Amino acid sequence: TGRTETLEFQAETRQLLQLMIHSIYSNKDIFLRELISNGSDALDKLRIESLVNSDLDVDRSDLHLELVPDGDARTLTVRDNGIGMTHDEVVSLIGTIAKSGTAELVRKLRESSDDTAELIGQFGVGFYSSFMVADRVTLVTRKAGEATGTRWESSGEGTYTIEDVDDAPQGTAVTLHLKPVDTDDQLHDYADPAVLRSIVKKYSDFIAWPIRLGDSDEPINSMKALWARPRSEVTEDEYHEFYRHVSHDWTDPLETIHVKAEGTFEYDALLFLPARAPFDLYSRDAQRGVQLYVKRVFIMADCEALLPQYLRFVKGVVDAADLSLNVSREILQQDRQIQAVRRRLVKKVLGTVRDLQTEHPEKYATFWGEFGRALKEGLIEDSANREQILDLLSFSSTADPSATTTLREYVDRRPEGQTEIYYLTGDSRATIENSPHLEAFRAKGYEVLVLTDPVDEVWVDQVTEYDGIPLKSVAKGQVDLADAPPEAEGFEAFLTWMTGALSETVKEVRLSTRLVSSPACVVGDADDLTPTLEKMYRAMGQ
Ligand code: ADP
Ligand code: MG
Repeated sequence: TGRTETLEFQAETRQLLQLMIHSIYSNKDIFLRELISNGSDALDKLRIESLVNSDLDVDRSDLHLELVPDGDARTLTVRDNGIGMTHDEVVSLIGTIAKSGTAELVRKLRESSDDTAELIGQFGVGFYSSFMVADRVTLVTRKAGEATGTRWESSGEGTYTIEDVDDAPQGTAVTLHLKPVDTDDQLHDYADPAVLRSIVKKYSDFIAWPIRLGDSDEPINSMKALWARPRSEVTEDEYHEFYRHVSHDWTDPLETIHVKAEGTFEYDALLFLPARAPFDLYSRDAQRGVQLYVKRVFIMADCEALLPQYLRFVKGVVDAADLSLNVSREILQQDRQIQAVRRRLVKKVLGTVRDLQTEHPEKYATFWGEFGRALKEGLIEDSANREQILDLLSFSSTADPSATTTLREYVDRRPEGQTEIYYLTGDSRATIENSPHLEAFRAKGYEVLVLTDPVDEVWVDQVTEYDGIPLKSVAKGQVDLADAPPEAEGFEAFLTWMTGALSETVKEVRLSTRLVSSPACVVGDADDLTPTLEKMYRAMGQ
């Protein structure tokens, strides 16, 4: 056994731990599902690792989870014989919170008093939730294939100790030194086997590895893969619990999509539309949310072959019957059957959004607020479904500042004689509304779509029409709104002079019918970049 080091938690972690220790969050039971979920992940990882690396010196004969309550010592140990962690992994994974949203989480938790539970759920505090129920936590772990183990211990108060140990079994054991329980709160005595059994039943029944309790070999979870069961036999609560497991989001999903495909390529898919976007949805390394299983065996998380990037917010599981357990990401990308599955799942997801839009406007509004920008990326990424995606979009427009409109509504509402769909892109609604470009359209009673998302600049370049009607920027090219063309006679000399005088900054000065009260405005050529796009490209260094 090596020397014991005492290390400090990083500042954000310390704050988060303080919030856990003093948590007023009433549903403390969830610490158990967090630990079980970690153990289950560790078992998945071990199985995959031993498939990839057959030389790995590991025991994979009896992979399982174990709960060992001790009423006299007032401890609960949650053990797995999965992948384990090295000394350095313990320091980096348990001693710090690597997640980029932690700082934000801590700030929000401090500001809000009542909805901490929701916030905790949104960010998924995982391992740290142990400190809601324990005043000291000991973790002993040994990485598969390594000889030396690591012991970590902390009371959550600023520091932790870490040392090497020689006799650690493969995998990880987390021992909670339980806080005293109120005598009237026996339901939350986590040293009581009956309490543990009921919590597992409630939160972790579908975990695919056996969870044993005490000395008994009989698993206390049914291990039934939810996605393989007929829809009629799964309760909404079960779906939601499973959603939490795959998403680490404690808010119930907006919609559940359960697909059973039979035929030449059999698979089950259980997908969810979340009710809220993860904080990193628009960051470069945002992950996709679909896991791949083969015949109930976990193969990979973040399976990019199953759904396109713009649907990265969809969470869930696809379980395919006829794939090799050794299947790689590269093989999946090229597999024709996987491509067919992907096409079908995309249709399903878009169809589900469509149903929300037509039947559940409130849910659709939530969806749109959280994921609308991502969906718009689909106009560029997924041209095969462009028409369908266009129908799912909502826009602000000059018609009613307090409402949004679909393209269909815009088209149906437009006055007779209007043959194009008009839009203006910009940084904000205010900039757009003050634009002189709008004057003539206002005067004519033509509605203009107000596009303020950065992604709008990109898709409007590629989507030139909706239902056969051209989409046109009011800031580009010639717009011909007047009944008669502008009367240029007598202005030629003036225009030539002005074009010359401004030759450094503009290509041409011409008469226009697009203005009503402003004397002049600058417009782009029809195929020029818009100012915002120019800025975007410049910012990207192009
Ligand atoms: P999350 O599970 O969301 O990543 P946690 O706080 O629950 O966050 O865990 C942090 C990390 O610590 C995990 O991602 C994993 O790498 C590691 N970890 C936690 N528990 C275990 C375990 N039982 N076995 C192996 N690694 C673990
Ligand atoms: Mg976890």
